[in-house]
Amino acid sequence: MGADHDQFITTNLPAWVSLYQELHAAPELSFHEKETAGRMAGILNNLGFQVTEEIGGFGVVGVLRNGDGPTVMVRTDTDALPIVEETGLPYASKVVTTDDDGNQVGVMHACGHDLHMTVWSGTAELLSSHKDQWSGTLVFIAQPAEERSGGANAMLADGLFEKFPRPDYALALHTHPGLGAGKIGYVPGYAMANVDFMKITVFGEGGHGAYPHTTIDPVVLAARTIMDLQTIVSREISPLEPAVVTVGKITGGTKSNIIPDQVEMELTLRSYNDETRNALIEKIKRICVGNAIAAGVPESKYPLIWIQPDYTPAVYNDPELTNELAQVLQNPLGKEQVVELEPVMGGEDFSRYGRVTPNIPICMLRLGVVDPVKIKAAEAGEISLPSLHSAKFAPEAAPAIEAGVKAMSTAVLHLLNK
Ligand SMILES: [Zn+2]
Ligand SMILES: [Zn+2]
Repeated sequence: MGADHDQFITTNLPAWVSLYQELHAAPELSFHEKETAGRMAGILNNLGFQVTEEIGGFGVVGVLRNGDGPTVMVRTDTDALPIVEETGLPYASKVVTTDDDGNQVGVMHACGHDLHMTVWSGTAELLSSHKDQWSGTLVFIAQPAEERSGGANAMLADGLFEKFPRPDYALALHTHPGLGAGKIGYVPGYAMANVDFMKITVFGEGGHGAYPHTTIDPVVLAARTIMDLQTIVSREISPLEPAVVTVGKITGGTKSNIIPDQVEMELTLRSYNDETRNALIEKIKRICVGNAIAAGVPESKYPLIWIQPDYTPAVYNDPELTNELAQVLQNPLGKEQVVELEPVMGGEDFSRYGRVTPNIPICMLRLGVVDPVKIKAAEAGEISLPSLHSAKFAPEAAPAIEAGVKAMSTAVLHLLNK
């Protein structure tokens, strides 16, 4: 990253900030990213990429070949969330739409995917106008439906790595709601968790609330089961292995004096490695069935356990690649601007691009977006910072875009010139 890149970024930053504000004002829900995809395709087209649209839904793939060398993939996500924006910004989203369930919802880029797109297109612009400085192949993809987990899988199933050059490395970045704008964060190894969505229906035999002895009460059975599920992480998984079992929703019954026939529960499970994930699922099944037997439920009414097949696997940042990039990024950004972060139990389906055979080394960097003054105030306990998916999430766009484009271009150039 030389002085000419810094100049290029400074010159183009105002245009990128405008692009960001336009994207921010025009968010689209997962699986509906039609206009956004068209816009991303148009940008790559103008830069000389060979562009294919509608890969795995509204996915876009742009390929730029420039002689022999490695293939590097850069991914952005494109979707927004069903949230009514409350930032009060002049470019705040006013979009209201009907969701897939027929509800009227506001739409907001509350996860920063608008910033990801801006950094992605800025990086494409910088690299395509400095083709004398690298040789190899760029694959830039705009992935839909990250929030609903399915976009990455859909693009892969549609032949992303067969119809287009298979990458030697895949890179992405994600905004971080607690990291200062201008900073880049990195986590070698497991960075985000396996995310599983599970539904459990506990059956009993309903009846009059005054005659419980003539029933099998599924409310009591569900309550007991929820408490027993808490012992999986505390008693059955190694204390050194991160895992979460949360029952976030429970519904059952109609009236105080009626014992219902069934109770439904919805769970989120989090883990890092596959063994722990499989162990959580097996142990939940065992406890549910075991408790049903203990309650005298007949075999025909054992609990129904459903797990979403298209789960989000853990993001595993290739440690060698990640540490190498962290080193390389210190030059353009400054040593103190590149910070190692703790892993989190959130999820991101960028992980899918690395989980192929043979494995592709991937790295998802974190992009700081918070005014440093606000970080100080938050550390002093004076304010609390809005999280991702908050209606008040309002990134400091200009310094974040500047650092993002610098970081991503530097990373790609480093890998192309290896
Ligand atoms: Zn999100
Ligand atoms: Zn996100």
